[in-house]
Amino acid sequence: MSEIDELKKKLAMACRMLFLAELVDYSGHISVRIPGTDRFLINGHPISRAEVTPDDIVTFDPEGKRVEGKWNLPSELPMHSRTYRVRDDVQSVAHLHNRMVVVLSMADRPLMPASNPGALFGPGPIPVYHDPALIHTNEQGDEVARTLGARDAAILRGHGSIVVGQSIEWTFAACVDLEESAARLCFASTLGPVRFYTDDEVNRVSKGRKKLSVIQKVWDHYVAKARLAGLMEGV
Ligand SMILES: [Zn+2]
Repeated sequence: MSEIDELKKKLAMACRMLFLAELVDYSGHISVRIPGTDRFLINGHPISRAEVTPDDIVTFDPEGKRVEGKWNLPSELPMHSRTYRVRDDVQSVAHLHNRMVVVLSMADRPLMPASNPGALFGPGPIPVYHDPALIHTNEQGDEVARTLGARDAAILRGHGSIVVGQSIEWTFAACVDLEESAARLCFASTLGPVRFYTDDEVNRVSKGRKKLSVIQKVWDHYVAKARLAGLMEGV
């Protein structure tokens, strides 16, 4: 299998697993940089995230234009294309419509590390993009990229989030951690004041979360879960 075919297969798997984890609904997407080129791959606009195949993956250029693939690009593509322009270190970008992250943003509660999944995104609160409108223009995409800065995630108030990483597997695992971090914080907040991690705790815990073996373990777990759920046929 060629490197591009391998990436298309992984993206299709990631879409189905993000659906399984309820991090995307009928919308939401994940993209990857094709190494050694100025091209990128992403799931096509109309296909259910529950049944994306490698054949449904679309190629786009740095201007956000489709260069290969049978489907239209997602309407919120500028979030991806404008982030890649300013983040050479980023290999993969995901846009989620994740419930608990959105719930916190609705209450104007900062998402700060208070459990191990949250440590990946600290120290300090995850930046928030406050305009709830969908990201359809390059100007909006630039503003989201500015909000993200050098961080691994940004919250889109009332809407979802953007998560970036060094590979499809890395970004997928970070997506899982982001939502789990928000869910735990929401639950803990109902019990009283939350004890947040110190910067030292964040640094020590996040080192473990960033190990490639841990990221692969998260990926393999969700592959197994998706297979059990019958969600991997045709990938
Ligand atoms: Zn969206």
